[in-house]
Amino acid sequence: MSNIENCIIIGSGPAGWSAAIYAARANLRPLLFEGAMTEENRVMGRFPMGQLAQTTEVENYAGFPSGKLKEFLSSAIDPSRQYMFPPVEEHAHAVTGPELMELMRQQATNFGTRVITDDVVSVDFSKQPLVLNTSENGSYETRTVIIATGASANYLGLPSEEKFRNRGVSACAVCDGALPRFRNKSLVVVGGGDSAVEEASYLTKYASKVYLLLRRGEMRASKIMQERALSNPKIELVKFSVVDEVLGDDVDPRVGVTGVRIKNLQTNDTSVLEATGMFLAIGHTPNTKFLGGQVETHENGYVAWKQPYRTITSVPGVFAAGDVADDYYRQAITSSGTGCMAALDAERFLASAGFH
Ligand code: NDP
Repeated sequence: MSNIENCIIIGSGPAGWSAAIYAARANLRPLLFEGAMTEENRVMGRFPMGQLAQTTEVENYAGFPSGKLKEFLSSAIDPSRQYMFPPVEEHAHAVTGPELMELMRQQATNFGTRVITDDVVSVDFSKQPLVLNTSENGSYETRTVIIATGASANYLGLPSEEKFRNRGVSACAVCDGALPRFRNKSLVVVGGGDSAVEEASYLTKYASKVYLLLRRGEMRASKIMQERALSNPKIELVKFSVVDEVLGDDVDPRVGVTGVRIKNLQTNDTSVLEATGMFLAIGHTPNTKFLGGQVETHENGYVAWKQPYRTITSVPGVFAAGDVADDYYRQAITSSGTGCMAALDAERFLASAGFH
C-alpha cells in the first residue's frame, strides 16, 4: 500500500463505467476493478463487463437504434479490444450487450480511468482510509468506494442441477448456447421473465425446440418479449411446472444432461422433457459477499441506500450503484444513472472532507 486513492470503483457493468466516466471527468483519477477473468467467475456469471456482456441485443438503452453500427463501433473502440464482441453486419434490433459495454469501457478509459483486471475479495471499512484487498494485486487504500458489483444469476439449488453444471446446465445462453451438445436438440429454459424469453429466443438459433418452463400460468416478461416467445414456432410454453430433477449421465461428461423431470403444480404429476440442456433464468442475487457484512443491506441482500435519492450507504465514503443496490428497476440505463449519481456523491463527499 502506498498512496491513497480518491475513488475506487468495483465492478465493470453499466453502473461501474458510468461512475468512472463521471469520476474521471471530475479529475478524481478513478481506479476501477473490472473483475478477474477466472473460470469460476465465468461459471458464476461474474466475468468482467457484467451481465450485459452476456446478453444479445440491448433494445432499450437510449441512443442505439438498429442499423449499420459496425463502422461506428470499429472507429470508436480500440482495435485491441474489438475481439471482445463478435462482428455484426446489420444490427437488426439495436446495439449488442458486449458492444455497449466495450463502448462504455472505452469512454471511461478515454478520460483517464485506470482499469485493473482483478477481483476485490475483502474490505476493511472500519476507518478512513478505506481498505480493499484484491485477489492478485495486494491491498489499496482509498477515500471513497463505489460498489457496482451487480448481481449474479440464481440457480434452483437442486443437487442434480449442481451435478450437471457445465455438462448441460447453464445460466448463460449466450455463453454456452452454441456448444455442440445443444445443437439441433431440445432444451429447457426455466423462468418466465425477460431474461428467460431472451435466452429461449437466442437458443432457438441452435436448438430444434425450446421448452419455456413457467411455474405460473403466465409470463412475467414485458409484452413485447411475450409476443416474441409466442410467435416463435420453436418455443413451447410449459405452464404451472417446476423442475423436479435434472436427468443424465454424470459419469461420462460427454453425455451430461439427457432430460428434465418436471412436476405439474396443479396436478402434482411428474413427466420428463427430453433435453440435452437446462438454462436457468430465474432472477439474480446481488454480489456482496466480499463486503463481509460491513455495509448494511436490505433483508434480501441488496445494498441499502441510507437516504432517499442518494447512493449513500451505511459507511461514510462508500456508495452503491446499479443492480447491487436495485432489486426493482434493474435496467442497464437505470444502472448507468445510479453510477453517475454515485460518482457525484463521491465527489461531494471528497469536497466536504476537504480532499477535492
Ligand atoms: P425476473 O425477476 O423478471 O423474472 C424471473 C422469472 O423466474 C419469473 O418468471 C419467475 O417466476 C421465475 N422464477 C423465479 N424463481 C423461480 C424458481 N425457483 N422456479 C421457477 N421459476 C422461478 O428476472 P429477469 O432476470 O428475467 O429480469 C430482471 C430484470 O431485467 C427485469 O427488470 C427485466 O425487465 C430486465 N431485463 C430486460 C431485458 C430486455 O428488456 N430485453 C432482458 C433481460 C432482463 P414468477 O413470474 O412466477 O415469479
